[in-house]
Amino acid sequence: MVDFIRDFPCIGPRTVPRARFNTQARTDQVSVDDTNMNSSSILCPCGSNKDFSDCCARYIDGNEPAPTAEALMRSRYAAYTLPREDYLLATWHSSTRPSALGLAEDIPTQWIGLQVKRHEQTDAEHARVEFVARYKMNGRAYRLHEVSRFVFENGRWFYVDGEVE
Ligand SMILES: [Zn+2]
Repeated sequence: MVDFIRDFPCIGPRTVPRARFNTQARTDQVSVDDTNMNSSSILCPCGSNKDFSDCCARYIDGNEPAPTAEALMRSRYAAYTLPREDYLLATWHSSTRPSALGLAEDIPTQWIGLQVKRHEQTDAEHARVEFVARYKMNGRAYRLHEVSRFVFENGRWFYVDGEVE
């Protein structure tokens, strides 16, 4: 198990990782100075309308296993917006996991929103989640429509791979 909690030894409002982007789709005015962001006052980027601290932060920062493949998928989307490469790699199945994602070196991506279209658990250890994620790069808007596959192993869900629709 990758110890992704190590960088955030005390879980609390002050330990929210600095977001590169405003995590909400409500505005295009991206706030660069996010030092006042607080986990009790920001909505979760995954679009659940819950506080980040009551939603994906529990899995990203709290080391709590996501209870379903959909919850894991949502938390992975949230991790892309933050970005939290450590969490993305920790929740990637070892059979398909890349050694690194290089998010910090990538062209800055502004994640705009997530829509989960379908969650289908095919058996106790396998599930598929279909989603549409929207984002902007260099001022251009993109839409990613993917069906992701997940596997349940050692008490946790892992992302395996995805097919772009
Ligand atoms: Zn969430």
